[in-house]
Amino acid sequence: MEIPKIIIDKLKIAKNIVILSGAGMSAESGVSTFRDPDGLWAKFSPTELASMDGFMSNPQLVWDWYSMRLNVINNVSPNNGHKAVAEMEKYFDDVTVITQNVDKLHQRAGSKKVYELHGNIVENYCSKCHEPFTKSILELDKEIPKCEHCGGYIRPAVVWFGEELPQKAFKESVIASQKADIMFVIGTSGEVYPAAQLPFNAKNSGAFVVEINPNHTALSQYLDISIHEPSGVAMPKILENYLIERGRK
Ligand SMILES: [Zn+2]
Repeated sequence: MEIPKIIIDKLKIAKNIVILSGAGMSAESGVSTFRDPDGLWAKFSPTELASMDGFMSNPQLVWDWYSMRLNVINNVSPNNGHKAVAEMEKYFDDVTVITQNVDKLHQRAGSKKVYELHGNIVENYCSKCHEPFTKSILELDKEIPKCEHCGGYIRPAVVWFGEELPQKAFKESVIASQKADIMFVIGTSGEVYPAAQLPFNAKNSGAFVVEINPNHTALSQYLDISIHEPSGVAMPKILENYLIERGRK
């Protein structure tokens, strides 16, 4: 795979790099949303498993679903795409990761500034009084834990259907997108708003916007360039070419 030279030329003068990542990037590591390896959960709808209504009508079911997913993410690793993104912090003034993923794989790869637009499934809090719940849930028994302050059920710190995005993370993401010199849009279909507006915020503010996705998406035609490869292939190659070019200067 050849990396178009314009990407490297843009990187050579870039200070602010923004990565917007979606489900495709996690899928490369073996994390898939709403699909489970043994098909046990196929009979439930996404709203039964990922909404406040679903949780209220069957908290234990929802808890079990998230325990299963937490197990999945504890058994996978950040891929070479996550690693290349984290490594970029060494070479650029500012690297911001904005992610729709809830698995903390960017943080595990070493990225420091990560805005989680949909929260994450690693942390938990009380559904009633909203106090954080800090015990490691993998060490608990299977039963859904209750808040030690108010007795409410503990829930994952993920954004469910019908819930607002975390306002601070979203605001900071808009600001970062407007300041970006280059944005990499990785593994996201560009169909889930408001996250899908961010590449346009970046582009309208003068950023060069690169899509990394094995598939054509709703975004492809609007962005500056699309590389139809997995991020684990494209991102290390881009970084490598950039470092070679920089060394030649
Ligand atoms: Zn509580």
